[in-house]
Amino acid sequence: MKRSVDVVVAGLGVVGSAVADELSRRGLRVVGVDPRVPPHRLGSSHGETRMIRQAYSEEPLYVPLVLRAYQAWRDLERRSGRRLLFEAGGLVGGIPDGELVRGAEVSARTYGLRLERPDPEEAAERYPFLRLGADQHLVVDPRAGYLLAETCVSAFLDQARAAGAELRTGEALVGWTEQGSGDGAGLLVRTSAGTWPAGGLVLAAGAWTGRVAAAPALRLQPVRMVQHWFRAEDAGFDPRTLPVFLIEYRAGKILYGFPDVGSGVKAAFHHGGRPADPDRARAPASREEVAAVREALGRHFPSARWRPVRSEPCLYTLTPDRHFVLDRHPASRRVVVAAGFSGHGFKFAGALAGIVADLLAERRPAFDPAPFRLRRFPPGTPGGR
Ligand SMILES: Cc1cc2nc3c(=O)[nH]c(=O)nc-3n(C[C@H](O)[C@H](O)[C@H](O)COP(=O)(O)OP(=O)(O)OC[C@H]3O[C@@H](n4cnc5c(N)ncnc54)[C@H](O)[C@@H]3O)c2cc1C
Repeated sequence: MKRSVDVVVAGLGVVGSAVADELSRRGLRVVGVDPRVPPHRLGSSHGETRMIRQAYSEEPLYVPLVLRAYQAWRDLERRSGRRLLFEAGGLVGGIPDGELVRGAEVSARTYGLRLERPDPEEAAERYPFLRLGADQHLVVDPRAGYLLAETCVSAFLDQARAAGAELRTGEALVGWTEQGSGDGAGLLVRTSAGTWPAGGLVLAAGAWTGRVAAAPALRLQPVRMVQHWFRAEDAGFDPRTLPVFLIEYRAGKILYGFPDVGSGVKAAFHHGGRPADPDRARAPASREEVAAVREALGRHFPSARWRPVRSEPCLYTLTPDRHFVLDRHPASRRVVVAAGFSGHGFKFAGALAGIVADLLAERRPAFDPAPFRLRRFPPGTPGGR
């Protein structure tokens, strides 16, 4: 039996590392465990860059959360002395009735965010390398940009350690039981290295959360997604030239990408992918996977000749409605589940950490996480893809 702690955080990807940082800074004794050594390439928080944007296409409800997240990233930059967030701007293009452009418009209108709407002539002048179909629209989210993914995770982990957290790699959560009653009540958290008496537990194990949570109502489908890097042989696409971009070229079919911040222009599809066992999702990209993204990139950025540099698989953890799960565990108020980020959770990490900490403290969070309830899917809800 190990010494008792306030909270065990299981999983130290971007979400768990942010939670460990937040809880430690609130003065709690925190132990973080992860069987791997983050930041690593086997989960969901790797691949050089992650997008952040304000006019949130998925749902206006994310706007207050992302505004809080911007503050949290700037705060982490101040504390760590590292630059993490680059507001390179964001091009949001596609069919006018598609989820991207319409969704960005709705969020911007709802929250009074600035959204630029260049006409085709102005767009051609500002972004001469971009080609959209005749029926496609472009809006520009000027506050969008990218985060340096691995640096963000390292910064959270370093800050958590500096605030007193004990971060233990090579140690996996195995399970937990409630023990005691009244003032002495708590958890016995079992890991691969022993048992921690703890006041609370956070399940932030990404694509592995479904395995450790033991909650049938939790509907999570890990999906293998591949990110690809390309070099433009005859053009530079650094962040001064190329904003981040999202293009819905057919209903529900989204190509997105990032400027070259070192390894080339990164591009990927936000759709497709195949259900995967998170322990076996490392299969290298197939020639067809690379060719499909290269073709879409060439279609929308036709002035460059795109040479593939490398590809890397990664994991989305999908919920049936693609919204997050941020809730107490059905079997214990002392256990908080933070998972199911459905391919868009990275940008929110600092804001999510505040909500998790409030739930553990039985305080009402400033952002109401009701839309992210674990039990919102009635039995029989189709999940996955
Ligand atoms: C290709 C790709 C592109 C994306 N693009 C964006 C984007 O542009 N913007 C954005 O906001 N989001 C994006 N996302 C989504 C975002 O990256 C994820 O939502 C986020 O990284 C999830 O972080 P996490 O901490 O939940 O998971 P992870 O980073 O996977 O961390 C989970 C951790 O839990 C550990 N673990 C596993 N089992 C156990 C156990 N038993 N005990 C303890 N620990 C365990 C794992 O080793 C891992 O370190 C993208 C995701 C992918 C895959």
